[in-house]
Amino acid sequence: MRLTRDVAVCALTAGFLAAATGGQTRDDGSRWWSYVEYLASDQMQGRQTGSPEHRKAAEYVAAQFERDGLKAAGEQGYIQPVKFKTLQLDEAHSSLALVHGGETQKIAIGPEAIISARVDPAPKVSAGLVFVGYGLRAPESHYDDLAGLDTRGKIAVYMGGGPSTMSGALISHYSSSAERWKAFRSAGIIGAIAIPNPKHMDLPWSRIAASRTQVTMQLAAPGMSETEGEQISIAWNPEKAEDLLRGTGHTLDEIVAAAEAKKPLPRFQIPATLEATAAVKRGEVESQNVAAIWPGSDPKFKDQYVVMTAHLDHVGFGAPIDGDRIYNGAMDDASGVASLLDIADRLRSTAAKTKRSLLFVAVTGEEKGLLGSKYFAAHPTVPARDIVADINCDMFLPLFPFRLVTVYGLDESTLGNDVHAIASKMRIRVQPDPEPSRNVFIRSDQYSFILHGVPSLMLDFGAEKGSPEADIQKRWLSERYHAPSDDLNQPVDKVAAAEFNTFIMKLMERVADAPARPEWKRESFFSRYRASAR
Ligand SMILES: [Zn+2]
Repeated sequence: MRLTRDVAVCALTAGFLAAATGGQTRDDGSRWWSYVEYLASDQMQGRQTGSPEHRKAAEYVAAQFERDGLKAAGEQGYIQPVKFKTLQLDEAHSSLALVHGGETQKIAIGPEAIISARVDPAPKVSAGLVFVGYGLRAPESHYDDLAGLDTRGKIAVYMGGGPSTMSGALISHYSSSAERWKAFRSAGIIGAIAIPNPKHMDLPWSRIAASRTQVTMQLAAPGMSETEGEQISIAWNPEKAEDLLRGTGHTLDEIVAAAEAKKPLPRFQIPATLEATAAVKRGEVESQNVAAIWPGSDPKFKDQYVVMTAHLDHVGFGAPIDGDRIYNGAMDDASGVASLLDIADRLRSTAAKTKRSLLFVAVTGEEKGLLGSKYFAAHPTVPARDIVADINCDMFLPLFPFRLVTVYGLDESTLGNDVHAIASKMRIRVQPDPEPSRNVFIRSDQYSFILHGVPSLMLDFGAEKGSPEADIQKRWLSERYHAPSDDLNQPVDKVAAAEFNTFIMKLMERVADAPARPEWKRESFFSRYRASAR
């Protein structure tokens, strides 16, 4: 079985791989891995946005693009500088408390709850609380968690996820911080407390809490803040949710059980006040997007661009785990940038010709809230209307052979048809997002392009529910995701990564050569953004 499949893959890819590797008919993934090794080495110190090491990584990527004959497409050569305001919670001068009746209960920042510096917090907040279910408002689904509740001047408490009556894409969209804040603000809400659904947490609470010392960033360019006016944003440890729910007659177990049974969540007033003091240290940094073009060959189409994105940044240093405080981000997302570089190398070595141009963008600030891609999509270095698609690669997790591809956004645009065409040629099976409640569709850089009307996809290694591969993925998320162990000392299937890169390259070539540019499906929720782009 194994051998037959390998032969089939070899036959399909032999054409350019023979050229790429001097007659060798199989890409063993070592070239792709060599890029990961550079970007995720300890010397890169976790590629924190705005750090000297991130700049060094950006210059490395630019040098590879140049070597491969790609045209500079930044503002200063290959580099597009991006300016950020930085925020860091000054924990010694910050506090949280719940007031029930006359009694004040101090809340330990870290073990019990954290104040997110992604929203610029007001110095002091004192407000009532209301539990608003999932905290979603989706007019097209006639769904409104805020309707009929007294929400004025209050802090909304909600649980992550969404109702079974809404599509995964719709839940993802309305769970984004921008859309959620729009709905909350219009209901007079002043801040939010998110309780993660303990059944769908990527990270154990201890690691969420450990991330609270991270510097957060906002784009410095005017008009780019999505949470203007939000006074406080808090994440609450689900194991401590009973403190919040005291006196309501409701428990988190009951709420989680309702969510898991796909029943409506209760919504209710909470007879308590939250008191918060938030002190913040502020600063400024500059970081880098890196952009390069493989020019198209067709006079009619070469001014259109098929974009491939991956994020260059990771989270730098963090709380030590087993004595290691460098968060290398090998899979998140040195692996994706390495795929950009691997494909750029293959284009050169095969002297590939595509009708449309291919635009490679290694973006910064993803871990800070998709900020580098948000900036690039708002200030593209090619005309916005000429960007026809974005294919994003973020943490695709080549931990086992590549037989199934998970495609986020599969049913939203004609790009899904292109995926199916490549997949059937390569004998790879295709599945849509298997766990929409994780909101992956809005959690990486494709979303920045979607908001500008660009049909987009993100692709990952797929695993069937309940399979050993699904176990491997789950274990990776709980043990290595945003931990120092996402480094170069982990088992990775390099051959499978090379096959994945073949898949992405063929997909980009197919889209670049197609007679028509990709289109959102008419019934897709995201087609609403189309008009704004053209
Ligand atoms: Zn990440």
